[in-house]
Amino acid sequence: MFGGGSIQLARVAGIRIGIDPSWFFILFLIIWSLSGYYSDRFPDGSTAFVLATISALLFFGSVLLHELGHAFEARRSGIGIIGIDLWMFGGVAKMERDSQSAGEEFRVAVAGPLVTLAIAAICWVVASLLGGVDASSDALRLDAVPQDELVAVIGYLGFINLLLLVFNLIPGFPLDGGRIARAAAWRITGSRNRATRFAGLLGRGFGFAMIAGGAAMFLLWGNLIGGIWLAIIGLFLNQAARSAIVQTQLTDHLEGISVADIMDSEPVAVPADLPLDRAHDEYFLRYRWPWFPVVDADGRLVGIVGEESVTSLPEAVRPGRTVATVMAGDSGDGVSSLRVGAEEPLEALLGREALVRLGALLAVDDDGRLRGMVTADAVRRALAPATGR
Ligand SMILES: [Zn+2]
Repeated sequence: MFGGGSIQLARVAGIRIGIDPSWFFILFLIIWSLSGYYSDRFPDGSTAFVLATISALLFFGSVLLHELGHAFEARRSGIGIIGIDLWMFGGVAKMERDSQSAGEEFRVAVAGPLVTLAIAAICWVVASLLGGVDASSDALRLDAVPQDELVAVIGYLGFINLLLLVFNLIPGFPLDGGRIARAAAWRITGSRNRATRFAGLLGRGFGFAMIAGGAAMFLLWGNLIGGIWLAIIGLFLNQAARSAIVQTQLTDHLEGISVADIMDSEPVAVPADLPLDRAHDEYFLRYRWPWFPVVDADGRLVGIVGEESVTSLPEAVRPGRTVATVMAGDSGDGVSSLRVGAEEPLEALLGREALVRLGALLAVDDDGRLRGMVTADAVRRALAPATGR
């Protein structure tokens, strides 16, 4: 939804953590405004700056933990995680597919706010413990200062996480609260599309309210930066909600169509035990496709093999090695992101990141046997009547 073109910061439990260039801008803004906030209590300029920097980084750490909450819960439900991106307005955990049930939607949506609540609670407990100790020995002693600073940072962290919690629980899609509202509407109506429209309309409403609130902040209280900030967030919320609603109009047209209806039911697949020289000549040279599905002797989909993983090996060693030794299997970023049930509704294909990245998905039956290939073109053709193109 947001982000793109991010710089990889780290990998946590196999999940790529990326930072969008806009993040550096907001980091700078936060440090700058926090320096002002801390300098009231710590007049020494460099102390205020150091505390502001630590606080800003801890704030982004909290946002990251929040997104990891979503990501781990999604993964538990079998939803692949493309990565987490930190950007101007916080974080976003990118997932390979939409939720398949109201319960799944609720669990994934609520996992992030629960993490944030836990951080806020821990900060509150620690700050009040330290604060309590501090009060008894508070007698302008120099060695009491570091503790003061610690309490100030923890107090800020608790406060900002509480704010984060309240903001995320605003019931407008695609905020977490909006996803919870969507899950509830989904459970009640039994329709994903109606639920998305309902939560999306709430999202648009809250988006407009934030824009109006931003204008009021400027006009009534002269707060220009805060006002612009709130209005921009409202604008993004409104836009994101709007595109979610537009997508439901698309998926309405797809009801009753399954993956099997539009797939190529005679896909070309490479046997896993084929030597690489033959795979190169009989598949890559012949069809000129960048990758192929790989099947075992029973026709079960076991991986995909890209041209590069064959051509990067010297020709002399290719006859002695099989496709199975170089293919991307089920682990990591391999074939799992491409697998789709042949009997699943066509709607399940929408928003599948691998369809865009690799141009096709692989349809399997209940036994994991490869039944077909669905290309991005075929999906586009199926959507054409709905999009009017
Ligand atoms: Zn969240």
